[in-house]
Amino acid sequence: MLDFLNPPQRAAVLHAQGPLLVLAGAGSGKTRVIVEKIAYLIESGRYTARRIAAITFTNKSAKEMRERVAKRLRGELASEVTICTFHALGLKFLQIEHAAVGLKRGFSIFDADDASAQVKDLCGGVNAKPDDIEDVKNLISRAKNGGLSPEQAMAAARSNRERNAALIYGLYQARLTAFNAVDFDDLIRLPVQVLEENPDIAAAWRERIGYLLVDECQDTNDAQYRLLKQLAGPAGNFTCVGDDDQSIYAWRGANPENLSNMGVEYPNLQIIKLEQNYRCSNRVLRAANALIAHNPHEHLKTLWSDQADGERIRVWECRNSEHEAEKVAAEIQFLGNNKQIPWSDFCILFRGNFQSRPLEKALQMVSVPYHLTGGTVFLERQEVKDTLAWLRLLVNPDDDTAFMRAVQSPKRDVGAGTLAKLAELAMDKDISMAQAAESMGALAQLTPRAANSLSKFTDIVRALRHDMAGLSSGDFIRRMVKDSGMLSELRHQSKDEAAYQRRANNLEELAQWFERGPRGASAADMAGQLALLSRNDKDEGGNAVRMMTLHASKGLEFPYVFIVGCEDGVLPHQVSLDEGNLQEERRLLYVGITRAKIQLWMTYSKLTRKFGEHIRLKPSRFFEEIPAAEMQRDGADPVADAAHKQERAKAGLAAIQALFD
Ligand code: ATP
Ligand code: MG
Repeated sequence: MLDFLNPPQRAAVLHAQGPLLVLAGAGSGKTRVIVEKIAYLIESGRYTARRIAAITFTNKSAKEMRERVAKRLRGELASEVTICTFHALGLKFLQIEHAAVGLKRGFSIFDADDASAQVKDLCGGVNAKPDDIEDVKNLISRAKNGGLSPEQAMAAARSNRERNAALIYGLYQARLTAFNAVDFDDLIRLPVQVLEENPDIAAAWRERIGYLLVDECQDTNDAQYRLLKQLAGPAGNFTCVGDDDQSIYAWRGANPENLSNMGVEYPNLQIIKLEQNYRCSNRVLRAANALIAHNPHEHLKTLWSDQADGERIRVWECRNSEHEAEKVAAEIQFLGNNKQIPWSDFCILFRGNFQSRPLEKALQMVSVPYHLTGGTVFLERQEVKDTLAWLRLLVNPDDDTAFMRAVQSPKRDVGAGTLAKLAELAMDKDISMAQAAESMGALAQLTPRAANSLSKFTDIVRALRHDMAGLSSGDFIRRMVKDSGMLSELRHQSKDEAAYQRRANNLEELAQWFERGPRGASAADMAGQLALLSRNDKDEGGNAVRMMTLHASKGLEFPYVFIVGCEDGVLPHQVSLDEGNLQEERRLLYVGITRAKIQLWMTYSKLTRKFGEHIRLKPSRFFEEIPAAEMQRDGADPVADAAHKQERAKAGLAAIQALFD
């Protein structure tokens, strides 16, 4: 049994009592250990599936892990294991324990935009500078992730800037409470607070989650780490896996030191290291090892692989990003068509989403299908956000943000003046805006037109709320977009039929998304889940070339990988260069390089345009940290280059020929 694992992997799977940390480099099978361990814990009868929870970094990796576990286990067992992100687990926790923090059932989740809008308002509305708003938001978030209440944040503040932020934090939190809402940070902070303050609830949850597994542990922030400790309890029945060299979210509060501190808090912590890489060719691995060795290390990990040397890393110098994109697209088209490699075996990685445009264009030109992860701005679309605001309002009548959005879409005779009156009344009486809108007193203060329009709106809301229980979540969404008047408004606003169809399709996609949820999940349950889907997090690509940021590629693997835009100022990023903070950029490239199973390309441009001017670019300084022997530069080997060109020219001719056959 388990003989398909190497000895340290097997030891990690079999270690079922007490805390375990698997600390190992890229592609060494950490995620695989988690999957096998879930299966082992269940099959050996140590834990029932219901008592196991595995935490992943993104919803996408949760989905992937669920599929992998489903393949390993018989029947329905896999679906009983909790596999989700920290945030989804926090949400699940609060849906059960909401009363302990004074939340009512059906509370809303504010996404980053909702939170920004509130902070902006509290900072002085239109007069506030965007940078100041951002700064306050970050300080609030940092306080929340550090587990500080507004009062504690105030006590800890050391400058006027911090005092101001702490003040706004208090006001912001009061608003969230009034709206019966939480933000993303609260999904972690509040469960921690409940668990720390209520030993009986903590005991019940430790019983409920008997065994905890955490992937990508190097990217947990302090609040998440506290949640982990609370759920695991003193017995510490958990397995954490991570790689400090792949810590790439420090800018979002991730604290890889949690890994090194674990041994202090759990003296019986066992640490297992994995050194065999099963993913990459040896050349790719040597390049990655050499690069990351330039970061300071307490213990240098040496990864080895028993795979072949493989091809050298192809390094291409290009004129500009259009030229780069054309070369990449042509290479993929060639390999796909002539070597029968499926499109989904290719992945193009870049530092920022803005780099995708030339690539998309070039791939379209050669008719190669692609899927841009994070490019599905579907959830950011106005009509989708409007629909979700309606849903939120139906589930949670106290959600004033949702009320304001829903009452204005579709447009009705409810203007800013009316809304201001309602807000004032709500404040006076300490009720929600939705309640204010239904009170006779309020209607009497409004113009007859506004009052009439508003009562029509509340009628629709009431009727929809009544229908909600009887319909499946997908059908309910369809009913809602129709009855609310949103669909006819869309038709009205769209400049032609095609534009209307496109936007209506977004709503249909939303309905289908709801339908794909767990069986029996209500629209209300799904609304909570949806709020957690970040833009970077959908992966439905089919057979298409994958394109994504280096950050989004963590934990994934692809046979053929292109890293484009390897220029100083892009990778490493200019901001990091200015701050002298190269290490995280180096880890980011390390993550990118170690995604490649068979072959890797790294490309850069010589020129770019900025404000209409041509600017010279330098190749990334990281090229100097990769052994020259592992790279093959374009032009460095005229014979190989000529052969390469000839092969491609022949293929091109054949393709043209095929058009006429
Ligand atoms: P990352 O650090 O990038 O998240 P990881 O350490 O989680 O990587 P996995 O994704 O679990 O690594 O594994 C990398 C690849 O190696 C996968 O394709 C996996 O199936 C394979 N693999 C892992 N362990 C073994 C093994 N013992 N035998 C054969 N293949 C293995
Ligand atoms: Mg992994």
